[in-house]
Amino acid sequence: MNYDVIIVGGGLGGLIASIQLAKSHYQVLLIEKYNYPFNKVCGEYVSNEVKPFLKEIGLDLESLGSTNINRFQLTSIKGKSLETPLQMGGFGISRYTLDYELFKIAKSLGVTFVLNTNVDDIQKINETFFLETNTNQTFETKVVIGSYGKRAKLDKSLFREFPTQTQAFVGVKYHIKYNFPKDLIALHNFKGGYCGISAIEDDKFCLCYLSDRKNVKNSGGINEMEKEIMCQNPFLFDIFHNAEFLFEHPLVINEIIFTPKSAVHKNILMVGDTAGLITPLAGNGMSIAIRAAVIASKLISNFLQKKISRVELEANYTEEWNKNFKNRLWRGRQLQKLFGDEFNSNLAISVLKKMPFLIKPIIRATHGNVIQ
Ligand SMILES: Cc1cc2nc3c(=O)[nH]c(=O)nc-3n(C[C@H](O)[C@H](O)[C@H](O)COP(=O)(O)OP(=O)(O)OC[C@H]3O[C@@H](n4cnc5c(N)ncnc54)[C@H](O)[C@@H]3O)c2cc1C
Repeated sequence: MNYDVIIVGGGLGGLIASIQLAKSHYQVLLIEKYNYPFNKVCGEYVSNEVKPFLKEIGLDLESLGSTNINRFQLTSIKGKSLETPLQMGGFGISRYTLDYELFKIAKSLGVTFVLNTNVDDIQKINETFFLETNTNQTFETKVVIGSYGKRAKLDKSLFREFPTQTQAFVGVKYHIKYNFPKDLIALHNFKGGYCGISAIEDDKFCLCYLSDRKNVKNSGGINEMEKEIMCQNPFLFDIFHNAEFLFEHPLVINEIIFTPKSAVHKNILMVGDTAGLITPLAGNGMSIAIRAAVIASKLISNFLQKKISRVELEANYTEEWNKNFKNRLWRGRQLQKLFGDEFNSNLAISVLKKMPFLIKPIIRATHGNVIQ
């Protein structure tokens, strides 16, 4: 079968793009490495900028048990704490549930899924893309969306070069039971990283952190690092000593880097983390992935209807991507520099405590407007 669009990767970016395109009656194939539902490293706090949009595509967040989060706490490595209301706020829901529900919506709209399958290579010959998978299948299409996340082997096959970054991070996630307010998201600093905690469905909390990978290496492992480094923050000490950890093992991802990438590569439109990864402390990588998918789908629809050429499709998408996200990602990177260092995190919290009027514009700088 010849598809109008093939989407590589079914996280939020890929699933939303598939839904938008299927709603416009295009033949869409989505290829995903895993089978739904599955857990994913993510803080699971979703900015409210996408809430009306998700409702409109048929996601009933309340009945899924999502939590409303409207307060923010920030603590320094030594446990100095600052709390503030969150202007726009967000909601908490696990990726296990969120991605699975979107998958079901996409399926009901006629999207074809090939699961448990990796796309290994993509070639374009004249106007047709050929996608090869690890299961030795080849699929053909007119348009490809790359939504395969932060970094994949596929980047290598596509000769996608990223500037080398000296500091790479690991991401770790747990689901826990803990005595903690459901309307609060806390970000606790530790040497070389920060750890978020916020409520999700079923009275559970997501505990997710980003750490300089040197921490893990120097401590001799994840658990050792948690005890030696993270527990120096009294808030994290309390969590690691009193919470009930629900996963048998932590969920871990490696090699997280925040260097800028390209929104279009080899005629493939990249959305979500594949186009650029915002530092998680901003708490809105998911809303960026969703917004980019909406933008890409609209332009792809224009291309398939022959209203714009491929050159225009790629130029317009790059322009829109830069306009919507480039500065947000840059600001996220600058903000991250304030954290993970004892002196800077203490100073940042002391300054913000004395000048609380600075908090609102800082949070605003990494967020977008509500998607209509
Ligand atoms: C530690 C950490 C905490 C975070 N916390 C938050 C938060 O609280 N709030 C927030 O908004 N954002 C957060 N983010 C960011 C957020 O997780 C991402 O921005 C978001 O998941 C991006 O969605 P995506 O669709 O681009 O990628 P993903 O959701 O990563 O989806 C990519 C998909 O592609 C699949 N895939 C990969 N390679 C292939 C292949 N070759 N073939 C087929 N399939 C493939 C993967 O299995 C995956 O399902 C956090 C990130 C990290 C690292």
